[in-house]
Amino acid sequence: MKIGFIGLGNMGGPMAANLAAAGHQVTGFDMANVEIDGVAMASSAAVAAQGAEVVITMLPNGLILRSVAAELIPAMEKGALLADCSTVDVDSARAVATEATEAGLLTIDAPVSGGIAGASGGTLTFMAGGSDEAFAKVAPLLDIMGQKAVHCGDAGAGQSAKICNNMILGATMIATCEAFALADKLGLDRQKMFDVVSTSSGYSWSMNAYCPAPGVGPESPADNDYKPGFAAELMLKDLRLARHAAETVDADTPMGRKAEAIYSAFVEEEDGKGMDFSAMLPRLAKRGHE
Ligand code: NAD
Repeated sequence: MKIGFIGLGNMGGPMAANLAAAGHQVTGFDMANVEIDGVAMASSAAVAAQGAEVVITMLPNGLILRSVAAELIPAMEKGALLADCSTVDVDSARAVATEATEAGLLTIDAPVSGGIAGASGGTLTFMAGGSDEAFAKVAPLLDIMGQKAVHCGDAGAGQSAKICNNMILGATMIATCEAFALADKLGLDRQKMFDVVSTSSGYSWSMNAYCPAPGVGPESPADNDYKPGFAAELMLKDLRLARHAAETVDADTPMGRKAEAIYSAFVEEEDGKGMDFSAMLPRLAKRGHE
């Protein structure tokens, strides 16, 4: 398949390389000067999109997606598919879908879970929003870049699922870290905490798969000086998207808002920027009761 790929950063680069390695003809564009194995580089997003059956975007945010989509849509052939895998606000996902549909294109929002390791290993999870026809067309490509793809509903449903998932993750990570910090002060051994909680009703992905305590549980960024992994500022981005979505539809999300306030202080006022989001544990462990 002839594929255009726009946004070849930490995630997009390895995703595009995996598509090329599987035998697809991939033409890429990024504002930065990058080289990706097997990917031919174009001089603009529009040039990368010309003649492509599928154009995939993997960009930092909704504003950038909207401006790149405005360039891509007129350059694409009718019936081609625009697939956005970035994490963006639901409004931007739906706006781009509407413009693309009006121009005779198929469209899907398909944000990912799984991080940089998932992107390189081809083990991402995709959550997709769009028509059955669009999902059927992109599914073979998602199978190459990931291990699972869930068709969540119409345009915007993928982004909705993504921010709901990450709102749970942000709140759960903080809860797990504050429990470890409390356990420390109560004199409990961290390994014992893990042994109990990971097999009791407090278990979660944050505890069992991505334990924030170094040397405890499976290997995680905590064992690597909290280098990301999933950076705290990306978690903050997703929590802000969740709040924005909640405001738009008048939903009460008290834990999501609290998690956003805590990650915002950590990233913007403390030393959390550039740290993994599980570095919430050392942050809380050194604090006292407020
Ligand atoms: P990144 O900053 O490494 O990559 C983004 C790329 O987009 C950069 O290479 C940048 O030069 C390029 N870009 C920016 N504006 C552009 C434009 N106008 N035209 C062409 N290229 C442009 O970010 P990333 O970590 O690859 O994340 C990409 C998306 O995936 C984000 O929406 C992020 O929230 C989401 N995401 C990231 C992770 C992760 O662990 N990194 C996990 C899940 C989802």
